[in-house]
Amino acid sequence: MSTQSEKKTTAGSYFVSNYPPFSVWKPDYVSSAFESIERQPHPEANLGIYLHIPFCRKRCHFCYFRVYTDKNSSEIRRYLDALTREFELYADKPIIGGRKPKYIYFGGGTPSFLSPHQLTGLVETMQKKLPWDAAEEITFECEPGTLTEAKLEAIRSIGVTRLSLGVEHFDDQVLELNNRAHRSGEIGRAYDFARSIEFPQINIDLIAGMLGETDEKWLDAVRKALAMQPDSLTVYQMEIPFNTTIYRDMMKEKGTEIAPVADWQTKRRWVKEAFAIFEEAGYTVTSAYTAVKNPESTKFIYRDMLWSGADMLGLGVSSFGHYGGVHAQNEKDMGPYLEKVEAGELPINRAKPLTDDERLIREFALQHKLGRVPRAYFQEKFDVDVFERFAGPLQELKNDGVLDYDDEAIHLTRDGLLRIDEGLKKYFLPEHQEVRYT
Ligand code: SF4
Repeated sequence: MSTQSEKKTTAGSYFVSNYPPFSVWKPDYVSSAFESIERQPHPEANLGIYLHIPFCRKRCHFCYFRVYTDKNSSEIRRYLDALTREFELYADKPIIGGRKPKYIYFGGGTPSFLSPHQLTGLVETMQKKLPWDAAEEITFECEPGTLTEAKLEAIRSIGVTRLSLGVEHFDDQVLELNNRAHRSGEIGRAYDFARSIEFPQINIDLIAGMLGETDEKWLDAVRKALAMQPDSLTVYQMEIPFNTTIYRDMMKEKGTEIAPVADWQTKRRWVKEAFAIFEEAGYTVTSAYTAVKNPESTKFIYRDMLWSGADMLGLGVSSFGHYGGVHAQNEKDMGPYLEKVEAGELPINRAKPLTDDERLIREFALQHKLGRVPRAYFQEKFDVDVFERFAGPLQELKNDGVLDYDDEAIHLTRDGLLRIDEGLKKYFLPEHQEVRYT
């Protein structure tokens, strides 16, 4: 049987970032999100905050996020006021339960699109309502071309501990073909200054398989990223979801579902080669996408807490949150988002309450991406022996060379780790295996 790993890249979402699939989150379930907000949190659940900054200088051709490239400063001001207001609406609710956030994540869009003044104003106002002094990690995503020294100083001043640079590639032709806003010259300048003001952790993102990618260009990008000696390197395999410019163009011009990027086998080979080069240089592969210089000191708390069931308030247009065992997503467009928040309502547009079994599947599946899944964690937390509960799919994945297991844990092979997203669907409930993911 042909597996995805031997296939062309076709349109659709391949990357499993959550469970159950987004397509089964419904407006009909929004009341369950509201009920969950009115309940006290689980005593052991950590709290985090995701802030969506939906502005970018240009829209990348592979982008599937809700972003705006045409907003002026008064529109941005209005959005930031709404973000603060939304945070205030949550801050007095029982779900907070006296907790302070353990992790904060500024994502987008491009958080570094904000001016130093907008950024510090936003954080000061939010902290008056609920201080961030217990946060162990504050991550901030950046587009290199938006970073000036003043901006980086402002980002450092609000307590950011993990600066994530969306480099994606170092080749100007590839960057241009994909409609990235930055060029290679901006990367080194931003990185050097960020290092000089001592961010505790700097991550560089790369994407394997952008439009125009070749073996030679990819290896060059990998070596240039490594030469900067970041604390961590994150490598994604290019996927082409339906709401991207690439998808629209390929349907309009050729009427084909096959994307004009490398096939999955090639993308996996590129990531495998990248990981081998990083390991050769002393880095350790700590997830399906990440290599870190020092695994003892370089953590990614947002990811680890999210994949072990932490609560997270998702603030901003189209943001995803999870609290009290319920998934929730905000209004997907700016107009309805602003209208609801300005009227004093939480702008939740669709939700999905999880059964205990769905919570188990979610954490079990997502933790595969870390390369090792401990049996005892699930026994203790869910009172379930995952080796029995998932005996069938585990055997299939073992036969397929994706993983192996001993008494204590499941261990992913390197090849398995690089194609784990396609394997995870085997753990899904039958009613979720055939539905569209997004
Ligand atoms: S910078 Fe990121 S969020 Fe903005 S358009 Fe490009 S991929 Fe999308």
